[in-house]
Amino acid sequence: MVKFRCLQRGYCCRRYWIPVTHLDILRLVLYGCYNPRDVVEPLEASVYPSTTDIPAIRLSDGEYYIALKIERDGSCVFLNRDGKCKVHEFKPLVCRFYPFIYVVRNGDIVIEVNTAALGECPGLVLDDKPIPQHIVKELQKLAKVRIEELRLWRELINEWNNSVAGSRSFEDFMKFVIKRAWADYTYLKERGLLVK
Ligand code: SF4
Repeated sequence: MVKFRCLQRGYCCRRYWIPVTHLDILRLVLYGCYNPRDVVEPLEASVYPSTTDIPAIRLSDGEYYIALKIERDGSCVFLNRDGKCKVHEFKPLVCRFYPFIYVVRNGDIVIEVNTAALGECPGLVLDDKPIPQHIVKELQKLAKVRIEELRLWRELINEWNNSVAGSRSFEDFMKFVIKRAWADYTYLKERGLLVK
């Protein structure tokens, strides 16, 4: 059914906007010393509809999703000219699944080919074999972390959206994000769910 090897051409990094969680942002700060304001931005929820059940973030002038910055040519802020990712070792979790996806079926995490990647991802080749076990196992492990990180992200957003005190600027939201990310980093570490 499938063979896959990332050819690092960066096609997927020019095609999609990349939603990030507070823990994705913390990894960029911790391992890449990035200032979040330089690499993430709020995207208007009405222009960039989310396909997940993550709530939009309420700021003073509208509702937004937080994503990696998009350059003028539509590419990700971390895409190098040679097609390689500048933050490959600690890139956002959503990037690490492509060209696969996980689905939770009857309590089991199942790894499947992302149908949107068919004919798009040059490293994905369909043959008569199943997805290699090392890929399945690695992505199942990652999916457990992702599911927990998304739960914590949803909690953070709901808390922010339901709070009526203080300013609703993007700057204030980012301060809230970083503070909470450190607390959740410790929580995940204690549960063996930390990934670089
Ligand atoms: S973070 Fe890296 S892998 Fe993800 S879209 Fe950007 S360049 Fe591509």
